[in-house]
Amino acid sequence: MITFSNVNKWFGKHHVLKNINLEVESGEVMVVCGPSGSGKSTLIRCINRLENIQKGEIIVDELNVHDRKTDMTKIRAEIGFVFQQFNLYPHMTVLKNITIAPIKVRKINKHEAENLGHEILERVGLKDKANAYPAQLSGGQQQRVAIARGLCMRPKIMLFDEPTSALDPEMINEVLDVMRNLAKDGMTMVVVTHEMGFAREVAKRIVFMDDGEIIETARPDDFFTNPQNKRTKHFLSKIL
Ligand code: ADP
Ligand code: MG
Repeated sequence: MITFSNVNKWFGKHHVLKNINLEVESGEVMVVCGPSGSGKSTLIRCINRLENIQKGEIIVDELNVHDRKTDMTKIRAEIGFVFQQFNLYPHMTVLKNITIAPIKVRKINKHEAENLGHEILERVGLKDKANAYPAQLSGGQQQRVAIARGLCMRPKIMLFDEPTSALDPEMINEVLDVMRNLAKDGMTMVVVTHEMGFAREVAKRIVFMDDGEIIETARPDDFFTNPQNKRTKHFLSKIL
């Protein structure tokens, strides 16, 4: 579903992605971890071209993302992106927040979009919040709305960049639970997170990045019990 081939990116002279090769299969959950500044956000932002690359190729669902001829609206409609900050429209209800893109981008009619919206709100455990405004919700609830907003586009891929990092500890699990259910339903997911319990339980593979490079890719069991690289060992010793 997603293939990186020899991907390189620079910010000015700073080489932030170094020869990245990576494949994510359909239905797979891949977790990306690594120290701050290692390039995790940049890596996933390249998948829907929020960032450009200077060398190499990224193919998403058979489309070359960084080819000028590729219709980015088409790719972006297939990819949901959930950030650390929820970025909901404060003046719109929850239902409006999650149906505006399907109506505007997918061109589905309002009634149909609202039916879908209600269905998805139920999936994220917020069926009674359709008419609430973001400020009336907790951080965990707002992040679940942000996930619902992504799902309303019926994406093939969901990208998550530290989705629980801005949340109070007691709200982290309600968001991870929604993500666990998505994984169970077979969604293709790339998740940047430091939630190693989640990674261990849900990821098919874990990628460890440091200084713009993929240092190690492993199945969760091997990653935690038998890390191969000393930088991975050092990282794990600090966070576990
Ligand atoms: P991570 O998500 O792992 O913390 P990032 O992908 O955000 O790392 O950043 C990787 C490197 O790229 C860091 O050194 C960061 O300072 C730099 N960087 C990120 N975004 C920009 C930008 N827009 N302009 C210049 N440098 C950037
Ligand atoms: Mg980041």
